[in-house]
Amino acid sequence: MTAHQLILKQRAELLAVLCGGGSAEPLDCVLDLLLACEVLVWEDYLSIRVLPEEQKAGLCFGKECAVLGKNRPDTATLTLLADRPVLVRKLRDNIDGALNALLTTGCFTIKDCDAVQLPVYTPSQQVRRLLDQVRFKGETAAKTLLQYLEQTETTRPNPEDKENHLSANCLLYQKKLRSSVAAQSHSLSTYGGTGRFSLDDIYTDGLLEVMDGSGETLTLGLEDVVGPLGTLNEDADTVLVSGEAGSGKSTLLQRLHLLWAREALLTNTFLLFPFSCRKLNSEHRELSLKELLFLHCCWPDRSQDEVFQFILDHPNLALFTFDGLDEFKQGFTDEERHCCPTKQVPIPILLFNLLQGTLMKGVMKVATSRPQAVGPSLKHYLRKEVLLKGFSPGGIDCYVKKHHSDPAMARRVIESLQANTVLLSLCHIPVFCWIVTKCHQELLGGQDVIPQTITDVSLLVLQHFFQRKSPQPQGVLGKAWLEEHLDTVLKLGQLALEGLEASCYVFSGYELQRNGLTEQDVSLGFLIYCNDLSVTDCKRYEFLHITLQCFFAALYVVLNRNSDRSAVSRLFQPQYRQLSGLSQRCLGHCIDSSVEEVESHVTETPNLQITAQFVSGLLSQRHHNLLLECCPTAVRERKVKQVVKSLSKGMQRHFKSIPRPVEGEKKSMHAMPSFVWLIKCIYEMQDNSIAQDTMAKLDVEHLKLTYCNIGPVECTALSYVLKYLRNPVGLQLDNNSVGDVGAEQLLPCLHICHSLYLRNNNISDEGIRKLLEKGMKCESFQKIALFNNNLTDACTQHFALLLKSKQNFLSLRLGNNNITSQGAEQLAEGLSYNQSLQFLGLWGNKIGDRGAEALAAALKNSTTLIWLSLVDNGVGSAGACALAKLISQSKTLEQLWLNKNCISREGVECLIEALKMNSSVKEVWLRGNNLSPEEEEELSKQESRLTF
Ligand code: ADP
Repeated sequence: MTAHQLILKQRAELLAVLCGGGSAEPLDCVLDLLLACEVLVWEDYLSIRVLPEEQKAGLCFGKECAVLGKNRPDTATLTLLADRPVLVRKLRDNIDGALNALLTTGCFTIKDCDAVQLPVYTPSQQVRRLLDQVRFKGETAAKTLLQYLEQTETTRPNPEDKENHLSANCLLYQKKLRSSVAAQSHSLSTYGGTGRFSLDDIYTDGLLEVMDGSGETLTLGLEDVVGPLGTLNEDADTVLVSGEAGSGKSTLLQRLHLLWAREALLTNTFLLFPFSCRKLNSEHRELSLKELLFLHCCWPDRSQDEVFQFILDHPNLALFTFDGLDEFKQGFTDEERHCCPTKQVPIPILLFNLLQGTLMKGVMKVATSRPQAVGPSLKHYLRKEVLLKGFSPGGIDCYVKKHHSDPAMARRVIESLQANTVLLSLCHIPVFCWIVTKCHQELLGGQDVIPQTITDVSLLVLQHFFQRKSPQPQGVLGKAWLEEHLDTVLKLGQLALEGLEASCYVFSGYELQRNGLTEQDVSLGFLIYCNDLSVTDCKRYEFLHITLQCFFAALYVVLNRNSDRSAVSRLFQPQYRQLSGLSQRCLGHCIDSSVEEVESHVTETPNLQITAQFVSGLLSQRHHNLLLECCPTAVRERKVKQVVKSLSKGMQRHFKSIPRPVEGEKKSMHAMPSFVWLIKCIYEMQDNSIAQDTMAKLDVEHLKLTYCNIGPVECTALSYVLKYLRNPVGLQLDNNSVGDVGAEQLLPCLHICHSLYLRNNNISDEGIRKLLEKGMKCESFQKIALFNNNLTDACTQHFALLLKSKQNFLSLRLGNNNITSQGAEQLAEGLSYNQSLQFLGLWGNKIGDRGAEALAAALKNSTTLIWLSLVDNGVGSAGACALAKLISQSKTLEQLWLNKNCISREGVECLIEALKMNSSVKEVWLRGNNLSPEEEEELSKQESRLTF
């Protein structure tokens, strides 16, 4: 196909790419290239430039083909044209200097400069206007610009120098901003009242991951969040940090802010503007960008215009952060364009255009959100998406040690967590790690109910806070502590629920008063003052954390005697929920009439789902005694029935969506996002019979839960419920964050798994040891896939044992781990006793010749092996000759994969000899070995089953 035909064929896609994003940048870049290559003549370019954006879509370019590899142009004007794409990038941060040079040499007038620097243009567009204008002015102007560029190249400024050019006013502003950001980020809100910890004392690194262009997962450090690692879209300026509630997103931003304020990180960022989306919700005025920055972050004491101009001129020196995009009332849309920094517009338009880069292109933005709230239209504008996965097991230890200055106490807490791995898995979510660590006394002191669920843990924190304020000696609470504080709980619960329903997370003193909350209620510590930089006089409050707001909302749903009968069922189907009359009445200010109901669902659903989880937990039989005096038994039972019915209905909906199996394939269910949530609700109820009844109706052979954010907590719930499946399933959990703790949580359901797929899940030898110990005893367990984990030779002895003892095991896939020849030798030991394995995959390890020899010897007598992969394992000819012996003896082997090794002619000749005696082998793959193309051709003629 010619290039012309190719373009015609892809016309629709090209138009979408060039014009669909709403930014002129992609098209302008292509125009730069076409001009530089002389495909586009100047007149055509000018006529395209005056077209409205949409009409550029229909353009067709002048000359047929590019003049490639031509000599350097001989005039300055042509040089600027040929180098245009590079110059746009080079001059972007240097427009002022270039204009100054043109102005002082008289090539440009002030009017010319103004026309170039119109604020509606992005910096790249300004450079293009500058280049166009220079071309129009003629050769002298072009020479002046080239000279200027030459000078700046030779005297490339030291980054330190940029400060020398800064005016005293900008520096003063920076100082003020740094100190207010430092004050705001110094301590964590969850430790607010206690004053015990600064962020420095307690901050513990979370697990940060990013997927690069090739689908590989990279682990990041805090400093990489804004850095280039994992960038997928160079043209976008917004980095998204996504993670579940309580995974530490706000804390991570807070750490970035603090380190910037101290000049310890982001040293190239001159000004950092932190925003909280929950607080932006209550800004109902129309604001310009300037007002947004100065009113919501930091007010310049002097020369506002100068400071603002500096920001406009140096977008690359500013960083904006937006915490909690999921809490912003309006869902992201890119329908309304706005690019003027001085025009006042409603906050959503301002925010969305900043994120898209229509406004203030070049300013780096970091936004945080829960994953559910990020739709495809926003993804389009993301530079990269960083996943925050909470604490690693090491992180939990580290956090506990930071929290308890007494090492003996820290040790006791860690030991108690290791003894209760369900609780340990909860601690991977930092907010629960905080609660568990904070409530260590209640935990270590022994409770009636051993905490297993998020409801148990949240009740613990409730008890802890009441205990702290208890007038009784030693603060001991009686059995009926909940009843004693019922009034406060209901008042807080009502506020919480109304807030959730209206996407309102910040409350005024007036709203507290209206709900009957007193100073004393507030002093309990569940509500805290908003830590806010914006200029406002009145005090505002928020719950310590969104999960606590959800917990209080759930308490209200369960304990309120007057709630309407559908309150519970409504919670389980948020998509059908109508805004309740109550919240409209009481939190009128939170509800923006311009925001459509549908849009606000995006933010509410995850919170209402967490609330539903808590409602399930509170209605669990385990808490019957606690609730006894607070809620009449009949009402409680009615609510339990409603929950069970809703869960069962929800599951039915999923089961009904399972497609009929294609002939010859397994009946398979790909879980929808709310499947995991329903499972978690069932787990909270801690009622075996409910789990059993629900699962009895699920009839599948394969359950796919890939890329579902499954961490240790979800594994606990899944396992609790799936263990009641009637028939064995293949459980596919690839590309999640199961880890060793999660792997251990899966043990209770292992007997019902015929296959377990755990590719890319951060599992190490210890997790495997526990998994296999149990797996060995499970009759149905026949396949395991562990591609891309952290396995080493230390785990192969366990596989050997499994292979020896399980003579119905079929498939073992260990690709992309760190297994060497030693590990292979251990595996071989097990394989020599096994007479069932059909598939063995070791792609991307380091077993070398020795390993290949050991495996070949062990598998020689196998009567079952069908498929063997040793791709990319440093196997040479010696290994190939050993495998040849396997081929000559095997009656079952069909495929042998040896690509990307270092086998030379000698090794291949051995394989050819062996194949002469073998009729079962269908293919031997040898791509990427030590053979010349001639050798490959010659050898493949000798044996057609070899593929090079
Ligand atoms: P998110 O924004 O994802 O909902 P937060 O950042 O608010 O989560 O975290 C909730 C609580 O968990 C914090 O208030 C803090 O107590 C604890 N926490 C979270 N991340 C960290 C961390 N990196 N180091 C120490 N504590 C943390």
